[in-house]
Amino acid sequence: MQTEKVGKAKLFMRYPFSSVLIYNGSTIIHFLLGGIGIALGYSFSSWAGYTFGFLYLMFSFVEMYVIMPIRVCPNCVYYRAKDSLCISGLNILSKKMAKEGDLRDFPKRAKGLFCPNNLYLLSLIIPVLAIIPALIANFSIVLLLIWLLIVGLLLFRFFVIFPKIACLHCTAKFNCPQAEAMGVRNL
Ligand code: SF4
Repeated sequence: MQTEKVGKAKLFMRYPFSSVLIYNGSTIIHFLLGGIGIALGYSFSSWAGYTFGFLYLMFSFVEMYVIMPIRVCPNCVYYRAKDSLCISGLNILSKKMAKEGDLRDFPKRAKGLFCPNNLYLLSLIIPVLAIIPALIANFSIVLLLIWLLIVGLLLFRFFVIFPKIACLHCTAKFNCPQAEAMGVRNL
């Protein structure tokens, strides 16, 4: 039940705890640094920094830990497999929040402008873009370091987490548009 082999890569029905920790740790740190960076970058305004920072934190955490488990995970193979643990562990959270969906609907996660996949990408990219004008208008070394860390986490996600830790070993990769985009489906 724990692993399966199709092609060269091992497929996990239960990801190692270290992988789940790396995935969620980098996600949560990315969101927190993003919120802090936006708040700090726009702190020259008495309201803008805290308001935008707080709105970003709300959006990113709700998108990842509420919208995904309600809209995407019920259609995923990890939701219905006994004793499974996906890369984010959201299959377990999803079972407590939503009814089982349909495997055939899983690719819908990438359909439409406001689909969960696009919202997920937006939650990662917003702080990278939002902090650039703040760096110009309100430069500080701390803000620059926060921005560099966020960019580093984004690159780490795209070049290490997705292709080497998460999508490569995912049992849902044969039905997942993200795995296709990463080119890991037949590895
Ligand atoms: S692999 Fe993705 S879609 Fe499937 S349960 Fe985990 S987070 Fe949800």
